[in-house]
Amino acid sequence: MTTYDAIVLGLGAMGSAASYQLARRGARVLGIDQFAPPHDLGSTHGETRVTRLAIGEGEHYTPLVIRSHEIWRVIERETGADLLTAKGGLIISSDGKSSVMHVEGFFRNTVAAARKYGIAHERLDAAEIRRRYPQFAVRDDEYGYFEPGAGFVRPEACIRAQLDLARKYGAELHVNETVLGFDPAADRVTVTTDKGTYSADQLIVAAGAWLPQILGGHFARFFQVFRQVLYWFDVEGNVAPFRPERFPIFIWELQESRQAVYGFPVIDGASIKIATEQYDGTTTPQTVARTVAPQEIAAMYQNFVAPCFPAVGPRCLRTATCLYTVTPDFGFVIDRHPASDRVIIASPCSGHGFKHSAAIGEALAELVLDGKSRHDLGPFRLDRL
Ligand SMILES: Cc1cc2nc3c(=O)[nH]c(=O)nc-3n(C[C@H](O)[C@H](O)[C@H](O)COP(=O)(O)OP(=O)(O)OC[C@H]3O[C@@H](n4cnc5c(N)ncnc54)[C@H](O)[C@@H]3O)c2cc1C
Repeated sequence: MTTYDAIVLGLGAMGSAASYQLARRGARVLGIDQFAPPHDLGSTHGETRVTRLAIGEGEHYTPLVIRSHEIWRVIERETGADLLTAKGGLIISSDGKSSVMHVEGFFRNTVAAARKYGIAHERLDAAEIRRRYPQFAVRDDEYGYFEPGAGFVRPEACIRAQLDLARKYGAELHVNETVLGFDPAADRVTVTTDKGTYSADQLIVAAGAWLPQILGGHFARFFQVFRQVLYWFDVEGNVAPFRPERFPIFIWELQESRQAVYGFPVIDGASIKIATEQYDGTTTPQTVARTVAPQEIAAMYQNFVAPCFPAVGPRCLRTATCLYTVTPDFGFVIDRHPASDRVIIASPCSGHGFKHSAAIGEALAELVLDGKSRHDLGPFRLDRL
């Protein structure tokens, strides 16, 4: 049986980043995925993910995203892939908002993080938002935070590029192979799949929405899986005002709505991608409804598109479902398994993980090879839950 320095279980956003970072440091790596990433059955598909440098979920995330942007630029240079478009991001909120983006104080935290880390930004009142971005139907008492370095990342392209580089640097990647279980012992961890048995010094479990099932036991309850839907609405009229040069990525903490709305400029020549979040019922990757009902599309248009973007029409060109794996405090878990130091759990999701994934891959590689990381992983300990 070949023994590896590390086995990476799951080659999505986190696992592909970890495999690349481990391989480029010369480690013997085996990456395993039940599908052939990038794929559309987990949490990392749909063409775009918001990225922003001042992080409203907590200022401790900011160093991770700053480092991720650096890593993506390195990968772009090495592979020629187009990964990161940083043409600006707008966060809209108000004192009268009824929706919350992930954590209470999201807008305030964002401004505080920008100040603390010296991130370029501007505060805009409603009149200024209307002047610059008439596409947004803001109310008089709404205000904005504009960050020129925010934008979007292309998740499938990031996974593809990192897996290509991991292979180039010598990683062994097994796709369409399912991990059935793992068994940590004093001197190694053994991983059993539907095709074989492997052993390694350490195992990174980056299983996304499958994590609760793989961890089992009483840990599973800390990771709840929720179905989310992405919508692409046809601009119908002139698309120019909705292209990235004139339309930033946005997050909008709405009034008279339970949920915020967020979205992206036109990159397909026709539609804006727009989404909200739902936390009403949990699901699993096996049982989730993968199709989107016409009623869901109609409700999305009526509640979020028409009132916010009057120039966008009701025709939905495309939808996709996706899975959030959410912890009780909307934070990440990046920590060693309480039962074995040889197993590292990596669950950076809760709906905001992608922007940090390149640096998290680096942190995971450092944990495996150096026993510690340059990144502060203290806030992501499992025992806080
Ligand atoms: C709709 C939606 C919108 C989002 N928007 C944003 C955003 O705008 N900005 C942002 O920063 N983040 C966002 N996120 C969050 C971000 O996308 C996730 O944090 C990130 O993609 C999670 O990556 P992951 O590696 O944990 O999971 P995944 O990428 O799903 O990878 C897990 C992998 O593990 C594999 N696997 C699982 N079990 C096994 C097994 N037993 N054997 C072998 N392989 C296995 C799976 O096949 C899968 O490939 C969003 C998420 C969703 C769903």
